[in-house]
Amino acid sequence: MAVLLSTKAQAMKAWRDALLAVDPTLDIRMFPDAGDPAGIEAAVVWTAHDMAELRRYPKLKLIVSMGAGVDHLLRPPGPPPGIPVARLVDRMLTTQMGEWVLLNVLRFHRQDPDYRAQQRDRVWRELPAPVTAERRIGILGLGELGTHAAGLLRGIGFPVMGWTRRPKAVEGVENLHGPDGLRAMAARSDILVCLLPLTPETRGIVDASLLGLMPRGGFVINGARGGHVVDADLLAALDGGHLAGAALDVFQPEPLPADHPYWSHPKVVMTPHAASITIPASAAPQVVDNLRRAREGRPLVNLVDFSAGY
Ligand code: NAP
Repeated sequence: MAVLLSTKAQAMKAWRDALLAVDPTLDIRMFPDAGDPAGIEAAVVWTAHDMAELRRYPKLKLIVSMGAGVDHLLRPPGPPPGIPVARLVDRMLTTQMGEWVLLNVLRFHRQDPDYRAQQRDRVWRELPAPVTAERRIGILGLGELGTHAAGLLRGIGFPVMGWTRRPKAVEGVENLHGPDGLRAMAARSDILVCLLPLTPETRGIVDASLLGLMPRGGFVINGARGGHVVDADLLAALDGGHLAGAALDVFQPEPLPADHPYWSHPKVVMTPHAASITIPASAAPQVVDNLRRAREGRPLVNLVDFSAGY
């Protein structure tokens, strides 16, 4: 089976080596050197790959995303009609995101921005002790990433809620779903964590109306996609004093322009879409497994549901 590989130049070799380490018989073609288009049966692509380009391959059976999110692949023109898309569900991606969420929840919970400011000003002052059991965490999205993060937070004593599209039972996590569930959860979230896929339903979900429901002094953590947050509304909530801080990994656009107010905002901590980075050696076994399933006509795994958009 010939596999088209397309990603950032610096990642191409690592991906090729990782896939060949699992299956040395793979015929890997590194984009743009695709060779005979009729030989390509699968495409393993980073989100930037042009979906129109994939219409050149008449025998294409499967598209595999090199990441967990597929919003870039689904936007028009979308994948060639009838071709399934699989995404990554990878232990190392999940672990990294859990760490990033934990880092930022603890940063805000333990008043780290205030203590950093005091250190800068050489102020020796003890702030009131934070109480873990009283700091309510609301997680938007209880999928692979949200469920793992919820477990970590619950494990150290935070009360955790999770919002989903459909009802979902996760041990020790209060589940809310649908529009009413969203409002109810926001109203009780001292820290609101976004781990949703970006779909037409979730774009701009973190807006003034949602933020306004949050308790005063709350925090927002976004590790999902920049498009979930209405930046002007978040900045207004921070500047107006309703929110105390935000931790953001994802932006719109990326890279974030140098003159964007987030860069120098005293209440914002940023990372450059680095909360959870795909490690090819970790992801390769499941990619190869799906390639074999496609070749042998067996059921594929981690498929994207086009009707749901994730
Ligand atoms: P997932 O397993 O597909 O889970 C998505 C969750 O969101 C599910 O619980 C789903 O509800 C919920 N959801 C989707 N649409 C909804 C809606 N309209 N209303 C309420 N809930 C909704 O996704 P994942 O693997 O956890 O990844 C989540 C996102 O993280 C990815 O799509 C990607 O954009 C982002 N991500 C970011 C990074 C980074 O480095 N910053 C890295 C990896 C991923 P149901 O349970 O009802 O289906």
